[in-house]
Amino acid sequence: MEGAKKMNPKLNATVSVVKINEHILEFFLTNIRQQVRIKVENDLILEIVTALDGKKTISQLATDYDISEEELTGLLDFLRNRGILDNVESKEDFVCYDQFRRVIHFLAEYSHSHEHLLKMWNQIRNSTVLIVGLGAVGTWVACNLAESGVGRLILMDADTVDSSNLHRQFGYRESDIGRKKADVLAERIHDYSDFTSVIKEYSFLDDSALHIFDEMPINLIINCADKPTVDDTSLWIGEYAMRRGIPHIVGGGYNLHLSLIGQTVIPGKCACLKCFQKTLEEENTIDPTRVKKLSVKNRKVGSFGPMCSMIASMVGMEAIKILSGDIQPSNMNRRGEFDIYSMDIRYKNYGRRDDCEWCGKSGKYYRT
Ligand SMILES: [Zn+2]
Repeated sequence: MEGAKKMNPKLNATVSVVKINEHILEFFLTNIRQQVRIKVENDLILEIVTALDGKKTISQLATDYDISEEELTGLLDFLRNRGILDNVESKEDFVCYDQFRRVIHFLAEYSHSHEHLLKMWNQIRNSTVLIVGLGAVGTWVACNLAESGVGRLILMDADTVDSSNLHRQFGYRESDIGRKKADVLAERIHDYSDFTSVIKEYSFLDDSALHIFDEMPINLIINCADKPTVDDTSLWIGEYAMRRGIPHIVGGGYNLHLSLIGQTVIPGKCACLKCFQKTLEEENTIDPTRVKKLSVKNRKVGSFGPMCSMIASMVGMEAIKILSGDIQPSNMNRRGEFDIYSMDIRYKNYGRRDDCEWCGKSGKYYRT
């Protein structure tokens, strides 16, 4: 960036270098579990790569290893394009670098240049996320997103804090009982940092409640509301988001020790909520035992703290990817089931449907 002091070339802190044999050098990108292998004729490249600690300039390195600056720059461009070189370059370019260093370095492995990394980070910090439902998942998701540097959260819930919430809902205390959840959670986020601004909306979700946000730019909607059922709230949010073309995530649903790992929908890019509903209805018709299993809902027992924070962390991770604008989310076209007892996760894939009333070719929200 203009005016900013560029850092000397440096390997990304999350990359390890392994000499596989005399002719193969491997870079392992730890965050994304990816290997990049290059053919080498001798140990020169290994020596140069291990010297990329940010202390030497390109011309110093070229002199030390008797290589032209042009050749060295070619090697560095190759490494930079694959996220092997540290694309942070000058941390002054990144707003609140020290506070959000780990998020920025996560994004770095997906970046192909300093400018690209900066763009992803700026998109996250300038984004607005609507969280519907401030219960066991919604509270943890809000905390996750504030810690990840999301710029603005809209917290939507009309409910008040009850003593039965305290064992699983993040941020609520005994002294908060009877207060609006949106007020309490907004205070907690403010206590954590001024970085994230919060808009509070004291409404329960129904089929038309989201229209109050029609004029507001929203980058992502997360459904953490389960009343009357997760299926209902997901369809209400799904239809609103499809109409506006907003990415959305189903936060989860519960059945005793099982939790749903809900799907991510990017309108026009994958199966929408209606596609899932249609396929699930067909499956339920085919397999009557599954109908019984899915229809058993014991709301009285509530969800379980460790299970909710697990699911919320997955949602938080998915949200960061979506908000970056350039990292593929993981849960498009699938949903999973997490068993807190066995710790098993099972995913099932679902496809976009041509006959979908929402996203199919004749659907009312069709887009590509
Ligand atoms: Zn669809």
